[in-house]
Amino acid sequence: MCDPTQVYYQHLREGELWLQYCPDCRRYIFFPRSHCPICWGQRWEWRQSRGKGQVYSYSVIRVSTRADEQVPYIYALITLDEGVRMASRVVDCDLQSATVDMRVEMVPASLDGQIMPLFRPISAQGLE
Ligand SMILES: [Zn+2]
Repeated sequence: MCDPTQVYYQHLREGELWLQYCPDCRRYIFFPRSHCPICWGQRWEWRQSRGKGQVYSYSVIRVSTRADEQVPYIYALITLDEGVRMASRVVDCDLQSATVDMRVEMVPASLDGQIMPLFRPISAQGLE
């Protein structure tokens, strides 16, 4: 199983977030792909993410175009501590409590039949 996307989702199903890392650029890579997007190298390796980061920006989605989608929810851009940014949702969080720069941690969850890395607030800084 060497398809990077399949490896990524296999780790997620096991509750872990793994990222590709390019040792030449010393950067993490997201989303999964066959080449480093900076140097086009293929020497990348897998490294486990701590699954923690902070909200870069967010929006509260209140209207859905789909009948089977629960609204409202918090759609957010998350910057992981490893430096990559991903679009996701913040769950277990009051809409009024969401803030930019809020610390969050990854929680794998099923979304539209696919396991996805969602995020929840880290309530106390001491717990990190
Ligand atoms: Zn690279």
